[in-house]
Amino acid sequence: MRAVVFRGPRHIKVEEVAKPQPSVKEVLVEFRAGSICGTDLHFYKGEWTGVRVGQIIGHDACGVRVDTGERVAMVPTMYCGSCYFCLQGLPHLCESRKTMGFSADGFFADFIAIPTENLVPIPTNVSEEEAAILEPVALAIHTLNFLQPRLRDWVTIIGQGPIGLLMAQIARLKGCRVIAIDLCDYRLKLSEKYGADVCINAREEDPVKRVKEITVRGSDVVIEAAGTRRTVEQTPFLVRSAGKVALIGESEGYLNLGNVGEALFFSGYLSPVDYPLALDLLSKGLVDVRGLITHRFKLTDFERAIQTADNIKEKPVKVVVLTCRKIRKSRFTEGTQRNTETMNHAPKPTKTTKQKLNTTSCTLFVQKRLDLKTVTETKVFQRRSQDQCVTAKIKKPMNPKMEAFITNAAPIVAHHKRK
Ligand SMILES: [Zn+2]
Ligand SMILES: [Zn+2]
Repeated sequence: MRAVVFRGPRHIKVEEVAKPQPSVKEVLVEFRAGSICGTDLHFYKGEWTGVRVGQIIGHDACGVRVDTGERVAMVPTMYCGSCYFCLQGLPHLCESRKTMGFSADGFFADFIAIPTENLVPIPTNVSEEEAAILEPVALAIHTLNFLQPRLRDWVTIIGQGPIGLLMAQIARLKGCRVIAIDLCDYRLKLSEKYGADVCINAREEDPVKRVKEITVRGSDVVIEAAGTRRTVEQTPFLVRSAGKVALIGESEGYLNLGNVGEALFFSGYLSPVDYPLALDLLSKGLVDVRGLITHRFKLTDFERAIQTADNIKEKPVKVVVLTCRKIRKSRFTEGTQRNTETMNHAPKPTKTTKQKLNTTSCTLFVQKRLDLKTVTETKVFQRRSQDQCVTAKIKKPMNPKMEAFITNAAPIVAHHKRK
């Protein structure tokens, strides 16, 4: 059978490999559709490690069960169901967790051997290409359920890629007001379509200043979905005191907590618990993923698909790979072509804008480095006394005597076990 195999950075190939033999706990699924995630791109560009050479990649896809013919979405997280975290209802933090497409062979292959508990039936009114974009929906549900914003809260989302755009949709479902930040107008147009109240192009205006103007005290909730250290480091300047920040795209950076009192920072992970709800939201038409699809390729044309996903000139949002199918030209792609002129004539960042950005991101306070890669899904609390607030305001380099408590988060989630 054919499979997409990781051979090293910029070296991902479609190869002939042996068809997998399912164990007693597994079934064989025939691949139908999948989508390229930002993580696949990080592996492709050599920015992230974690995939071994020779491994099949892909962790967001659907197919058809060979034994029953049922259409199924595939959940990449494999968990034991009996360790401390599994019993806490946190299977995504399982102590013997493996993720297909990262630490085990993934989904971009003609056939996949997968445990039956990792399959979720696809409702009849959900298409295969829609069921191929479930991971970011599940991630957005997980993140916003964890953050628990209140009705009409301001939710600021940095990065309007597929994850950011789905965060915006779920935040709107929860009755929040959304501020969308990105560097590309074609993505911000989508944010507007999905109901963002304010769209900020960070090339044209200072997002920190603008968010403060709109929200007065800072945003109630901030979600970092751009995946850069710079945007991670921007989050304390966007959130209000006692607000909440989710770091989704990148988990490293220097967080200057001198600017914000009693804030909560959360590094989120995908959870299998949220897949059935993700499919239900698609089925009810409450969340849209079809409008995110900008390009479609055959699985055998994977190299071209990932090059397109990596090429900003192609204006990619979600690149989908399909099998044995006529590849239709995306209506959205045609639509955005007309916007090329607007994009090209967008004002270049001026010197003043740059200076403003630098002032807001550079700081004289003592910085605390939080490497959230070592702890998954953790709350970081930070408290300061009243006089320390004053020292923060006069902006002098002094020790604000910050206390940081790192505690394991344990949100209440019903333990998920399918028959
Ligand atoms: Zn992913
Ligand atoms: Zn476990």
